[in-house]
Amino acid sequence: MRVRSATSGTFGGFRDESGRAGEPAGLPEALDRGLLDLLLPRDCAVTGEPLDGGPWRHLSEVGANRLTRIHDPRCLRCGHPYEGLLAGETECPHCRDLRPAFGRAVCAFRAVGAARRLIHRMKYSDAPWLAEDLADAALEDEVFRRHLAGSVLVPVPLHGSRAAERGYDQALVVARALARRAPGCSLARLLRRTQDTPTQTRLGRAERRRNVAAAFTATGRPDAAVRHVVVDDVLTTGATLSACARALRRAGARLVDAAALAHG
Ligand SMILES: [Zn+2]
Repeated sequence: MRVRSATSGTFGGFRDESGRAGEPAGLPEALDRGLLDLLLPRDCAVTGEPLDGGPWRHLSEVGANRLTRIHDPRCLRCGHPYEGLLAGETECPHCRDLRPAFGRAVCAFRAVGAARRLIHRMKYSDAPWLAEDLADAALEDEVFRRHLAGSVLVPVPLHGSRAAERGYDQALVVARALARRAPGCSLARLLRRTQDTPTQTRLGRAERRRNVAAAFTATGRPDAAVRHVVVDDVLTTGATLSACARALRRAGARLVDAAALAHG
């Protein structure tokens, strides 16, 4: 009998008490990748085909290659993929409008197709374990890896009531997976959401900005000597990441950048 680990309720859906995504609690990696795969063969979370023995936990090589990557040219502020960027121009029109409080945001993927579906599933279908493969895939991108390297990653906080509803906080799960893999990175939960803002998905740019402008506050004093990178799963208008960056700066952080798995 084939059990799809990519479906919640099987081994693939376990979380430890720290909210860490990925593996059955307490089982060593070698056991997971060996015996468990024999007992519960896994399917690719993108193609649905059986895994082909590649480096991923829940992706086949074909599935991983379907994640649409962002290449240059891109906006040097928000990472927006930008065809036909004119020489000397570094910001897209959205950033000239937003004036983000972060220095630079970098995203690995476009939030379309397989990347969009995987992130959506990670977020809304109780599948935080997908963050591990998404983080690995994102860090294969040299620009993204260099952008995170040596920084303190600060997840965008989800309001307590929403985190409790969902059972986990997807930005924290993503930031934690990235911090474990990116060179010289650590994780610091330095932000708190002070207002339970309505969901952003149906709002326009200006509304999103107003919606989150005062929604965050720092929980402590950030180390002014280090570079902080605020992390979210998806950057849409940049308003949330900018509001978080502003809260960190107000609390004393000097260098604040941003990153998300996907832009869209
Ligand atoms: Zn931009």
